[in-house]
Amino acid sequence: MTLERMNMESAPLKSSLLIRPVSADCNLRCDYCFYLEKAALYPQTKTHRMSQKVLETLISQVMQHTAGPVSLAWQGGEPTLAGLDFFMQVVELEMQYARPGQIVGNALQTNGILLNEAWAEFLRLYKFLIGLSLDGPSALHDHYRRTKNQRASFGLVYPQIELLRQNMTSLSMTSLSMFWW
Ligand code: SF4
Repeated sequence: MTLERMNMESAPLKSSLLIRPVSADCNLRCDYCFYLEKAALYPQTKTHRMSQKVLETLISQVMQHTAGPVSLAWQGGEPTLAGLDFFMQVVELEMQYARPGQIVGNALQTNGILLNEAWAEFLRLYKFLIGLSLDGPSALHDHYRRTKNQRASFGLVYPQIELLRQNMTSLSMTSLSMFWW
């Protein structure tokens, strides 16, 4: 029996990872956020980004040590702060390290503010499942979900629904204040 076959026999049939590539960095300051305070764990750095080396190690290891499908959920903070180039690298590495026939799924949970045409096209092309955080009508949404400067964010997020729809991305809506009330 080959070493690779022995490794695969003990490998998980599928793997699901939740990844925070920008730690707690975010362009919003939602009242109910339980995660922003985690930035205090790294007081010496103001901006937190997953390095190329960590990204490649993470993807190569999960792909090569999982017998079947791999599902990666990208969350924050706000994961789009990592930049589109970062996510292009994600899919390149997934293609590079995927085992033959291995299915890979990506999900992105975002507040939507940084999305634009280039993002939407990329997300559609690689079939990301998008979770867009919107807390309902503007009065409700803006009550809790405000920018660093305490500006309302509904007007920044709502148009992104149409952008994603036009690009036929797989979209689900997440409402946090529904759970908060
Ligand atoms: S968008 Fe998410 S991570 Fe950012 S402040 Fe709001 S709840 Fe927290």
